Amino acid sequence: MQTNFSAEQLEDPHNKSSEKILRTCVHCGFCTATCPTYLLLGDELDSPRGRIYLIKDMLETGKPATAEVVKHIDRCLSCLSCMTTCPSGVSYMHLVDHARAYIEQTYRRPLPDRLLRAVLRLVLPHRERFRLALVGALLMKPLRPLLARVPVLGARLAAMIDLAPAHFPARVAREIVPFEGARRGRVVILEGCAQPVLKPSINAAARRLLARHGVETIDVKGEGCCGALVHHMGREQDAHRFAKANIDRWIAEMDGEGLDAIVMTASGCGTTVKDYGFMLRDDPDYADKAKRVSAAARDITEYLVSLNLPAPTRATGQTIAYHSACSMQHGQQIRDEPKKLLKSAGFVVKDVPEGHICCGSAGTYNMLQPEIAGQLKARKLANIARTHPQAVATGNIGCMTQLSAGSSLPFVHSVELLDWAYGGPLPEALAQSDFIQQPVQMTAAQ
Ligand code: SF4
Ligand code: SF4
Repeated sequence: MQTNFSAEQLEDPHNKSSEKILRTCVHCGFCTATCPTYLLLGDELDSPRGRIYLIKDMLETGKPATAEVVKHIDRCLSCLSCMTTCPSGVSYMHLVDHARAYIEQTYRRPLPDRLLRAVLRLVLPHRERFRLALVGALLMKPLRPLLARVPVLGARLAAMIDLAPAHFPARVAREIVPFEGARRGRVVILEGCAQPVLKPSINAAARRLLARHGVETIDVKGEGCCGALVHHMGREQDAHRFAKANIDRWIAEMDGEGLDAIVMTASGCGTTVKDYGFMLRDDPDYADKAKRVSAAARDITEYLVSLNLPAPTRATGQTIAYHSACSMQHGQQIRDEPKKLLKSAGFVVKDVPEGHICCGSAGTYNMLQPEIAGQLKARKLANIARTHPQAVATGNIGCMTQLSAGSSLPFVHSVELLDWAYGGPLPEALAQSDFIQQPVQMTAAQ
């Protein structure tokens, strides 16, 4: 694609990087076929190619973002399905990240939008604030019908309440499990922000599973949100602040006793931590450190595959639908590892039809764009139901929260299932189901 940036504009490193990306796009349109918003809305401007044109025009003119451009960029899920499809290797992720930051700097959103976004960015990335907000959402559940009628914000308030779990999740102290046998590795598991509040059982399962296979997991005090939530809202400086806080702590460990990996159990965080090197490329104090951190980042399933786990210790055989989060399959290009681990642990793993299409979670998207998110969720749940699973496994807390609200199927993190197969406790979500009693017998056709 031909671009028309002035020499002065290209002195800005963000413009320079985006110009390079824009030039790789040959506007073939292959990406439109796998874009969830184009699929639903059928508008070229809600396709990757259409958005690329909008971003190009916005950046080249250097004018403030318009309401029309903001509408179409806001509708993008950052699912990155377009990147998997694109034959030219267009780095849409970095382009849309730049566009979101540009919008944040040049566009004044209507007051209700500003308020809602401020609440989300000030609450979600902070565990204790998020915990309090969940209490508030639970208390507000009976008022949902009233809140849904609030002008402008009603649908979004209702979506926030719907996403709150039915019961307040128990506070679980982080437990360091001593590793068994000879030490095979030393890792840190990113604790994160929302996940330890909503599902502390996920990282607990990861720690047990790793310890059982000789891996020491260490506790790094002070690490927190990876920055993804604010990054996707265009809050570049906030995202960098979160990233640097984590980098400082992890680099201290890497340069101390050493780390074999920085392990992520939420694929949304994994995509962002693996991108720290790019995010901080122009920061003289952090560029190298960020690159080292990104190089050490691993999804838990990537790391587990490297351990060559033995046969499971329990009889399994249940049928599991594997829902691959966009941040897993498109953001990190991890497709086979989770399924390989689950199959090796004896589960019957089913691929979900239309598995490349987003479930609508996408960070804060399901709260900011509840209508599109709701349609994508219904579509995903219908596709999951077609596999007739006993449980659904995934690797991202956002998808678990989005899909389990409104589904009778149990949703678990892949590592919780693996931990159970290797001797850990039954995941809480499966306790009320017939999961243990009825492993499905396979037929030749399956
Ligand atoms: S598939 Fe890639 S090259 Fe083709 S229009 Fe989409 S982004 Fe551009
Ligand atoms: S990131 Fe997802 S929603 Fe956004 S343009 Fe690409 S495919 Fe479409």
